[in-house]
Amino acid sequence: MAFDVIIRGGTVVDGTGASPVRADVGITGDRITTVGNIPMSASESTKTIDSTGLHISPGFIDVHSHADAALLNDGQHASGIRQGVTTEIISPDGLTLAPLSAENYKLYRWYLSGILGFAPEGLDMSSIEASRKNYHLKTACNVATFAGHGPIRLEAAGMNDVPLTGKTLKTAQNLLRESFEQGAVGFATGLSYYPHSWSDTDELCALMEVAKEFDRPMSIHLRNHHKERAFGDGGVPEAIEVARRTGTKLHFEHYRTFPKTAGQLDRLMEPIDKAQSEGVDITLETYPYPVGSSFPQAFFPGYFHEGSPEHMLNILTDEGKRTELIARMGEISYTSVKGNVWTHIGEGGNKNFEGWLFEDVAEEWGVSIEEMMCRMMVETSLACGMRVAPPGNVQKWRQVEEDIMQLMARPDYMVGSDSIPVGGMPHPRAYGCFVRMVGRLRRRYNYPLEQVVQRMTQNPAERFGLTDRGVIKEGKFADLVIFDEQKITDRSSFEDPKVHPEGIPYVLINGRLVVENEAVTGVMAGYAIP
Ligand SMILES: [Zn+2]
Repeated sequence: MAFDVIIRGGTVVDGTGASPVRADVGITGDRITTVGNIPMSASESTKTIDSTGLHISPGFIDVHSHADAALLNDGQHASGIRQGVTTEIISPDGLTLAPLSAENYKLYRWYLSGILGFAPEGLDMSSIEASRKNYHLKTACNVATFAGHGPIRLEAAGMNDVPLTGKTLKTAQNLLRESFEQGAVGFATGLSYYPHSWSDTDELCALMEVAKEFDRPMSIHLRNHHKERAFGDGGVPEAIEVARRTGTKLHFEHYRTFPKTAGQLDRLMEPIDKAQSEGVDITLETYPYPVGSSFPQAFFPGYFHEGSPEHMLNILTDEGKRTELIARMGEISYTSVKGNVWTHIGEGGNKNFEGWLFEDVAEEWGVSIEEMMCRMMVETSLACGMRVAPPGNVQKWRQVEEDIMQLMARPDYMVGSDSIPVGGMPHPRAYGCFVRMVGRLRRRYNYPLEQVVQRMTQNPAERFGLTDRGVIKEGKFADLVIFDEQKITDRSSFEDPKVHPEGIPYVLINGRLVVENEAVTGVMAGYAIP
C-alpha cells in the first residue's frame, strides 16, 4: 500500500465512542486507507507525522456556524480549523445567502451584515448548487449547508409580512425541494429573524412535508417573535408539534440552561424527554458558554423589518417613527437591551465602541439604550452586532458549564458553536468553542474523552448525512485532528476573544495538512459536501 501520509505512534479516538487505542493511520489521497500497525518498511509515503504521545480523532463538525460570509471573504478560516473543526454546517437559524436572485442577494447580504459581515458583492448565489461552487476547494474546511428558511421565504414572498399560501407556498416548497436535491443537509429556521419569523406553524409544517421526502431534519432556533401565530405559544411546543404533525426529525439549536435557570436540567429536558418517549426523533446542540450573540435587529418587532434595509433606515432616522418603534419593542419577548456588548461595528467611525456595553455607549451619547441602538444601526447602516456580557456571578456561570457537560453525556447531543467570526470583539466561541469543551471542561468535570469526541464527530455526521465522515475507519475521508489531550485548551476569552487555542499541532482535511505545528498551512482542502 502506498501512502501519501502516515501518522505514527498516536492513540486513536475513532469517533464512535469506543475506548482509545494505539494505532498508526495511513492516508492515500483524501481517504484513510489503514488504521493499525503500519510497518516501518512502508515508508514510501511523502509525509510522516510523529504523533507519539498525541491523540488522533475525526475532525470536529460544527453544526451551527455563521461563517457563511466569513468563509467567502477568507477561505483560510483559521478561527475554525485551528480548533480542529474540519466541517462547518452553515445557514443555521435559516440565515444564509442562497438561494437568492441577484437582487435579493444584494438585499439580504445587507440585511444580514450585522451577523454575517459583508459577503463579496455580485456572487452567483442563485441556488444551493451555485453557492456550493463558491466554497468548494476555496476554503480550508469542508462546508455543508442547510436550506435556510430566510432566503427561501424572501424569494417566495419578499421581505413582507404575508402568509405563504397558494402560489407563494408552492414557490417556497419548490425552492426547498431543489435545495435538498442539490445537497442541503436539513431545513433551518430561526424564529427571531426575518423574513422567516412571519411564518406560522402551518407554514413550517408545509415546508417540513418537503423535508420528509428527503428524510432531512428541521434545525430550529425557537420562536421569540410572533408567538401568537404559533402552536402552543411558540418555543419547544411549536417545534415538537411540527415534528409530530409531519413525522419528521427535529434538531434543537443552542439548547441549554442560562445563568437564571442554572442547575435546572430536569425542567429544561422534561418536554424533550416526553416527546422522545412518545416517538419524536429529536437531537440537540449547544456551545459551552453562558451567553449568546446576535444583532440588534432581533430586538425590534416585525413591521420594522418589512420592505428593505432602506425602509428600516427610514424608520430609524424619522423621529416620530423611531419613537413609535421604541415604544413597540416590548411586543416581542426577547432578552433585555441592557447588559449587551457591541462585538462588531462596521462603518461610520464608531469602531472604538466595539467591546463597550450598550448602557455605557448610551451614557456617552446622553441618550436611552434604545435610542443608542437605533443611532448605531443608522451610523453603521445596519452593519453592527452584539453579544450578551457574561454573568458577574461566576458560580452561576460555572453551573451553566456543568449543566452543559451533563447535557453532553446524553447520546442525542452534539456541538454547534454558533460562531460569528466577524468584528473586533466577537463572542469567544468563534475561536474557542470546541477546544473549550474537549480541553478545559472535559478535564474539569472528568468527562470521558471518547464520549465528548463522539458528540462532535459521529453524531453530527449521522444526523446530517455527511457521507463517510465523523469516524476514523478505513475508507472514510481523512478529516483528522491530532492533539495533546493534557494541553488542548481554548485561549479565547470575553475580553480577548480572537486568540487561537493550544494543544492541536496538526489538522488534516481530505488528507491534506491544513494545520501544521499549530500554524495554518494555506491549503484550501475543503469540499462542498455532503
Ligand atoms: Zn445562530
